[in-house]
Amino acid sequence: MKRTKVKDLLSNGEIHKDYMIEGWVRTHRGNKNVHFIALNDGSIIHNIQIVADANVFEEELLKKITTGSCIQAIGTLVPSQGQGQKVEIQAKQIKIHGTCDPETYPLQKKGHSLEFLRTIAHLRPRTNTFGAIFRIRHHMAFAIHHYFNSKGFVYLHTPIITGSDCEGAGQMFRVTTLDLYNLPKTKDGKIDFSEDFFGKETSLTVSGQLEGELGALALSEIYTFGPTFRAENSNTPRHLAEFWMIEPEMAFYDINDNMDLAEDFIKFLVKYALEHCTDDLNFLNEMYDKELINRLNFVLEHPFERLTYTEAINILLEAKENFEFPVFWGCDLQSEHERYLVEKYFKRPVILTDYPKEIKAFYMKQNDDGKTVRAMDVLFPKIGEIIGGSQREDDYDKLNNRIKELQIPEKDVWWYLETRKFGTAPHSGFGLGFERLILFITGMANIRDVIPFPRTPKNAEF
Ligand code: ATP
Ligand code: MN
Repeated sequence: MKRTKVKDLLSNGEIHKDYMIEGWVRTHRGNKNVHFIALNDGSIIHNIQIVADANVFEEELLKKITTGSCIQAIGTLVPSQGQGQKVEIQAKQIKIHGTCDPETYPLQKKGHSLEFLRTIAHLRPRTNTFGAIFRIRHHMAFAIHHYFNSKGFVYLHTPIITGSDCEGAGQMFRVTTLDLYNLPKTKDGKIDFSEDFFGKETSLTVSGQLEGELGALALSEIYTFGPTFRAENSNTPRHLAEFWMIEPEMAFYDINDNMDLAEDFIKFLVKYALEHCTDDLNFLNEMYDKELINRLNFVLEHPFERLTYTEAINILLEAKENFEFPVFWGCDLQSEHERYLVEKYFKRPVILTDYPKEIKAFYMKQNDDGKTVRAMDVLFPKIGEIIGGSQREDDYDKLNNRIKELQIPEKDVWWYLETRKFGTAPHSGFGLGFERLILFITGMANIRDVIPFPRTPKNAEF
């Protein structure tokens, strides 16, 4: 007999038919006559109840069915007598795949803290909470590919190992095969990277954007979706050292087209989650954040507020708030400023544009005022920045001048500059942090709880 997933059993199971199910035991209680086993196989947040007649099954076998053990059961689907479930399996056969020692299994009692569960990341997928989060994460990844595919974007794989250190988005992790205990040296005493694997210094990418642009300037519309790495020592609930990023890049889009796409994209994902992850969202709404589903619906129903950085600074300067970081034209907005605009002032998502060029990357399109660039950041409630993007500078001379001003080595950007020499085109793009999206969709408060195995400063366990 073939296995039926609990999800399919609960939605399409036929009463009085026999099924085989497999999964992990959540609870087991019983008396002299009858035993009740709640089984979960991760296909859905709900368990299936297995009813085992104590006169049919050996006591020895029933004793081994403890919380966390893995079993296979064959039985008949019947309407449930008890409360809490419509149907249950009346067991005919039970086989134990793996026992689970109740003395040492860490997931015995309910209500472990999220902090504790982080220390057992190898087992936390077996909890309701992490089952829900990781299923939602899966659905969002799928929805992202679906969205871009349906719009004719090409999924472009940009490299993870990069030879340039000018991607401009953060500190990089070095990639090397050199013997750290015995480094080859040049005549003037520096490390001789010509002996390294790639014959030059290499790192893990902080963004696929620059290569993404090369794709857009040939295929019109591309997106990347892959891991990115930042060695920034930021111990915040919104930063990881390894995170996933979605970076669409589009030829013939100006900054307004870029904003329209970003807003439509996020709203599509929120709607997709509400439609496809209903049970998991209801669970998280009930257990962690009673406002979660309201907040998701609110985002769908309201246009994002669009204003310039300069307008935002004026609002912040007039705000009667005790900000920790001072506000002045030219300052990099801190999370507290972003959240004031989103949560207190506009009470909805905000897109800020036209930032001072000094606080943004070299490739952003320069405005005529000589001071600002065509950047756009999308700011979200509880998260702050969820998307960072811009229209790109497509003028060869302007881009080259900025590269020289910032003393970016030519060897790192010659190929990037050539796209502006050979058939340049107006183009734009943005980066959405996948885990920040999942934070928003799940209502979780810490980014370590929305990725299966978080990498943060001093932590690469599991
Ligand atoms: P922040 O100011 O929050 O550090 P950033 O300006 O460094 O963000 P970008 O370089 O614009 O971010 O990256 C694009 C997107 O990637 C961000 O909008 C955010 O959603 C996400 N992101 C950036 N850094 C991290 C990180 N360390 N961990 C998780 N997501 C991140
Ligand atoms: Mn950053």
